[in-house]
This record gives sequence, C-alpha cells and structure tokens, in this order.
Amino acid sequence: MMNQACDLEIRGLHHVTLLASNAQANSNFFTKVLGLRRVKKTVNFDAPDVYHLYYGNDVGSAGSVITYFPFLNVAQGKAGTGETGLTVFSVPTGALEFWRPRLTALSIETSVDELFGEKRLYFSGPDLERLALAESETDIREPFEVADIPYDAAIRGFHSACLILKNGAATASLLELMGYKLTGHDGHVGRYTMLDGNGANSVDINVQPDLPKAVQGAGSVHHLAFAVENKSVQLNAYQILVDANYQVTPVINRDYFSAIYFRAPEGILFEIATNTPGFAIDEEPAHLGEMLKLPAQHEHLRSKLEKTLAPIID
Ligand code: ZN
Repeated sequence: MMNQACDLEIRGLHHVTLLASNAQANSNFFTKVLGLRRVKKTVNFDAPDVYHLYYGNDVGSAGSVITYFPFLNVAQGKAGTGETGLTVFSVPTGALEFWRPRLTALSIETSVDELFGEKRLYFSGPDLERLALAESETDIREPFEVADIPYDAAIRGFHSACLILKNGAATASLLELMGYKLTGHDGHVGRYTMLDGNGANSVDINVQPDLPKAVQGAGSVHHLAFAVENKSVQLNAYQILVDANYQVTPVINRDYFSAIYFRAPEGILFEIATNTPGFAIDEEPAHLGEMLKLPAQHEHLRSKLEKTLAPIID
C-alpha cells in the first residue's frame, strides 16, 4: 500500500564519484576546462592517503558536484555493463556552439548527437571518463559563470547519469521505488525522471545485453549519490530500502553530508546523501577547496599527509 512514508523523498542526483589516476590533471580539467569550482580538497575518509576532490558550482549545490578519488597509478577502467557509463552536465540551449570549439582547441575529441530531442556533446576526461554536455530547455538552475566561460554557456549542474546494464529491469524497479518515473525511450535508452527534483533530475538506463562487464579503474564511476534534504528523510529512506530487502549501510558521517550506501541489482553502488550541512561547514564560502581539509578522525595524520599527497597547483 502506498502512503506518505513509502516516499523516499529523493530529489535528484547529489554527486557522482569517479576514480582518477592523477590529482593535478583531474583538478586542471574540471576547474580550467569545464569551469567548475573545486569546492573541497579533502581525503577519502575510508583511505586517507588518497585525496577526495569535489568540483561543482560556487557552493557545491547537490546535483552539481562531481567528485574524484585520485589513486596514483591505478589501472585504466574498462567500459562495459554494470556501471554508470556516462555523466552528463546541463548547459543552456545554444551552449554547444561555445563548447565544441573550446574543447577542440584543447585537443579534446568531441562528437554530437541528440537524445530525447536534446543536443549533446560527448567527450572524455583526463582518465577517459565518458562525459557529455546536454542542452536543456527546462533546467532553471543558474549557470555557474566563470571568467572565460560566458553565462549563456556555463554548466548548471548535472543533467543525468546513464547506467549501462545487461538487463535493466530490476534497476528500473529500484529507480521507481526511489520515486523516478519512466518518461520515455529513445533507442536503447530508457529515461527515469524525478519530477520534483533539484534539476539533476534524470537517470537513463541503456540496456546492452551483449557488452562485457565493466572493470573498475581510472575513469570509472565509483558510485552515484542521490539527494535527500536531511537526516530524518534519510532515515526514512533507509527503512524503506531495508524493508525492500536492500542491504544498506548504517548512516555514515561524511562531514559535508551524511551517507548511506547500497548496491543496485546489477551491482552499481548507490548512495543517498543529505543536502545538509554542505561544503561551507569547515571553511569560508569564499575559500572553498583551497586548503587541505581533514575530518577530525584523520587530523592527526595531517603532517604525514601534507608530505605524501602530491600538492595540487591551481
Ligand atoms: Zn559519495
């Protein structure tokens, strides 16, 4: 029986986390090429000898934040099924006319197509992660304007993430449990949309029964995080997922949000993260992402980490 308590109250994507092989190349690409702001320079709370870098809009709003664990010398990932195979940012209509020559001038290969009637520009990041910019007419979020990227071309946040799956049916049911509605098909791709989301509203499922399984490595998406407003909503979501027989971790404090994690049916790691307290909790909004911030439990490692983590030059 459906009732209020059955609604997980997810509001779209929160962040997408990937693996990288080089922190400097990663930071250069997302800040200098795509024009995002590095909103946090911290470490992987579960493996503090590795950075955790966050890039988003000026405040790192939920739905705008791409994050990376740069593991030096990690092997290249192999694309396939059972992973998030494409991360898509939203840009204003007409913006691809700015982005295509910009990326080409930087020797970044691009290709263009249209999905669900929206133009997209595909390209790869420094670890061959598959990225795209999609022109959206319906996205009302403010573009994050920076010096060399005009307002009418700048990124607004995520548009969607695309899951590449062998079958897709059970993951589709999970997305529906999470509040997503199937809004259409275009070729192999089914689109699941959060109708009252934060703007990062869509998850696409691309069913590819004949592709081999993906191998996680540099350039792979590590997990996909979905946004809820606060911890009480998160606890309700936890209970609904447990009642639906998902194995969900307890609530974990990530300082900038609280997180729970579980595996979707074909193995993709999902997280549900809170919008609060956000990235300004431990540094001034004007200086987000500049200093190495460590969670209290790892502060005693600071002098060691400041020697072993390669400095990132901005
Ligand atoms: Zn996460």
